[in-house]
Amino acid sequence: MPLRPTHLKLMNSSTHLIDDTHDSAATSWVDGTQGHPDFPLQNLPLGRFYLSDGRTRTGIAIGHQALDLHAVVGMDLLNGDARYAAEHALEAPIALSAAERLALRRGVFELLRVGGRGADRARARHTEILHLQDQITMQLPARIGSFTDFNAGIHHTRNGRQMRGDGGSLPRNYHHVPIAYHARASSVKISGTPVRRPLGQTLPQGQETPVFGPVQRLDIELELGVWVAQGNALGTPIPIENAADHIAGYCLLNDWSSRDVMAWEMDRLGPFLGKNFATTISAWVISPEALAPFRDPAYVRAPQDQPLPYLLSPQDQKHGALALQLAAEMRSARQRTAGVPLQRVVSTSAEYLYWTPAQMLCHHASNGCNMEPGDLLGTGTISGPAHHMYGSFRELSRVGTEPFDMGDEQRCWAEDGDEIALSAWGQRQGFVRIGFGECRAQILPAIDLPTHEG
Ligand code: CA
Repeated sequence: MPLRPTHLKLMNSSTHLIDDTHDSAATSWVDGTQGHPDFPLQNLPLGRFYLSDGRTRTGIAIGHQALDLHAVVGMDLLNGDARYAAEHALEAPIALSAAERLALRRGVFELLRVGGRGADRARARHTEILHLQDQITMQLPARIGSFTDFNAGIHHTRNGRQMRGDGGSLPRNYHHVPIAYHARASSVKISGTPVRRPLGQTLPQGQETPVFGPVQRLDIELELGVWVAQGNALGTPIPIENAADHIAGYCLLNDWSSRDVMAWEMDRLGPFLGKNFATTISAWVISPEALAPFRDPAYVRAPQDQPLPYLLSPQDQKHGALALQLAAEMRSARQRTAGVPLQRVVSTSAEYLYWTPAQMLCHHASNGCNMEPGDLLGTGTISGPAHHMYGSFRELSRVGTEPFDMGDEQRCWAEDGDEIALSAWGQRQGFVRIGFGECRAQILPAIDLPTHEG
């Protein structure tokens, strides 16, 4: 008998709970899953996609295939809580409670595991329940109501201050406030969607009058995205102890930025047109349950820099940070034509986030702001302390003054035709590596300037 939603909701978050679904000895009967760098049996991220005939599906990535949950439910391959959770996932995969995600994860793990419960029946129907990922088209996993971008990367913030001539010291509020701005939801697009070089108003160096045209300083920001699952009523904050329960999972996020536009428009207020033209995210939602082995204590702070009590919980301090590696790779149009593989230009780690995702979410709702299922939070650029760990071109090229190497070419900023791909993965002794899948986009040239002549 499936549990009722109220019962499932009462169970607690499983953010750091290690169970059979993390067993490194467990293998799947699905071809190509063993050793897959992103989607082994131990990951099982949810996503939404179109089939070639245009039908929409909710599914789970496994190796280079996607498990079709509509087909799984239709064929009665899951039972009890897992079936109930799968039915809910068909409607709104992002809005599952932690208990529903766990029930679905355990049920699907068994279905796809060699020797698992129901695996024989599933395997017999494999052509009906699995789709090759290169034959489906990924969609956003949810309609994004609001997108907020934080600034939790401590080295990125320090580098930014240094490049502005503030000596690299952190502003006083940085130790207390998880700083963010309200970003644009409508231009968040799935990996693979090209990014057109925007037009913008800028003030060329040494000139008095601004100009309007294709931006010159197009940049990336290597970030993680945090999906909100269950929200909160307007006026009712989310306590830090419960904040992790409101997180559906994580994705990669490239917060494209026009540095020349930002430099001119941000004299009074925060980012606007320098940021809102494009954000690229990876398609699959990597669940907190899959990331349980890849948890770390929160950022270690100086004794005088402790967060206020409303942002402190023992659980979050102990397990709230993510132990993930991140990278950015790129190649030019010429390199791609010549068959040159993507060149690694950034290698960094989520350990450089000064705030945990739970602290960001708790702070966001601390004034009563209502979060909703499908809201997306960006962590901010995740730079590390060394040059090769800088998560934006602005830092890598020291504001365009020192080009960095991209194989046999050099760059200060993104050029037309450049292809840029972010990646993230968790890897730890005793556990199977899991990854986030691709977060990739190619730069298209700006559209011709609109003219105002008849
Ligand atoms: Ca950003």
